[in-house]
Amino acid sequence: MGKNHSRGNLFVISGPSGTGKGTICAELVKEDGIDLSVSMTTRAPRPGEVDGKHYYFASREEFLENIEKDNFLEYATVFDNMYGTPKDAVLKRLDRGHNVILEIDVQGGLLVKKAMPEAILVFILPPSNEVLRQRLEGRGTDSPEVIEKRLAGALNEIKLLGEYDYYVVNDDLATAIDEVKGIIRAEGQRVPAKVAPIVSRYE
Ligand code: ADP
Ligand code: 5GP
Repeated sequence: MGKNHSRGNLFVISGPSGTGKGTICAELVKEDGIDLSVSMTTRAPRPGEVDGKHYYFASREEFLENIEKDNFLEYATVFDNMYGTPKDAVLKRLDRGHNVILEIDVQGGLLVKKAMPEAILVFILPPSNEVLRQRLEGRGTDSPEVIEKRLAGALNEIKLLGEYDYYVVNDDLATAIDEVKGIIRAEGQRVPAKVAPIVSRYE
């Protein structure tokens, strides 16, 4: 018999822009029972980005309205734009027993940990600053000015690594994906605070 987990686990995946979070998360959601939360942002869509799939693209007014209504689990301003995690969708999925992944920045991760201390924070590191630059340039989605801003912000995020629970270096992609999957699996086997329902099966 399975473990009968009533609730799924909440994972936060953070790391400097260009480190490979999106690439890794795209693989994780191919597994059953792992859902990726879709954030709301005031940033303009990049070519190929689909509203409701990659983000909910919103005006500043719309975003502020959602803050007012307490619709976000967390929100933060990142690189001049606002980003927020819709609360209800996350809670519903956890209740359904799904693992939920938030791909959000470090400030957001720390806010989630405050609101939901059971959240598991995973930090994705690039192999080096040089490789991070290559990835941002290679992705071809950001102007040179934006890339410089993102690189300058990377160390500030990495300095907060100590607040996180796990870290994975995304050098070889397949290895990194495997390591994150390993964390998700291990957390699924963690002994819960209330063991009585498990013990009672053996009485
Ligand atoms: P993030 O979501 O953290 O901003 P992305 O997932 O968009 O980063 O990755 C940035 C770029 O680096 C993309 O072009 C992606 O294809 C590439 N990339 C991601 N992981 C690796 C890896 N392990 N090795 C080489 N390139 C990678
Ligand atoms: P991008 O503009 O490259 O899609 O994302 C920029 C940064 O915003 C990334 O570090 C990404 O993880 C973060 N981000 C995306 N969605 C959210 C969110 O809902 N909340 C917070 N705090 N950060 C987010």
